[in-house]
Amino acid sequence: MKIGVLALQGAVAEHIRGLEASGAEAVAVKRVEELDSLDGLVIPGGESTTIGKLMRKYDFIDAIRKFSAEGKALFGTCAGLIVLAERIEGQEDAHLELMDMTVQRNAFGRQRESFETDLDVAGIDEPIRAVFIRAPLIKEVGEGVEVISTYKDEIVAARQNNLLACSFHPELTDDYRLHAYFVDMAREAAAGRA
Ligand code: GLN
Repeated sequence: MKIGVLALQGAVAEHIRGLEASGAEAVAVKRVEELDSLDGLVIPGGESTTIGKLMRKYDFIDAIRKFSAEGKALFGTCAGLIVLAERIEGQEDAHLELMDMTVQRNAFGRQRESFETDLDVAGIDEPIRAVFIRAPLIKEVGEGVEVISTYKDEIVAARQNNLLACSFHPELTDDYRLHAYFVDMAREAAAGRA
């Protein structure tokens, strides 16, 4: 599997390490042409407004929508989750509008800007270590979306067919099982296209 990490802003190198540890070939993606050779794409954490602006500037919005429509796998982490969402609380416009969910940005407030915890994830045997940094929450999901992890009754990871999203940073620990889960998704998606 060849997986790209959108490298406009945010934590790119750490995702590349996680994908490689999961047996994929991983590359940083800066231009839309580079999407053609990929089986999947990670949209990393960072700042969603900035990532959204740069995506518009470099024509990534339509290109990634097409990539998704072809059934290729997408994984948004933290700001990347916000970028995937159809709806963002308190904002008129969203970005890619691919995942049927409403997200709340900076949902943990100032008192708890960042923290680490262990989370159960459906499809992964033992709890995974998760790092939350000014994290969003998924406040509501549509019918086609499977909730795969919650923290204190709030949704922090979900999947919709070829799309995966989590509130936290799975790339900031050396526990890369969510990357392995995503590489498996990309593999299944590729088998479905063949
Ligand atoms: N708070 C950021 C945003 O709203 C996301 C934070 C992150 O990616 N660590 O875009």
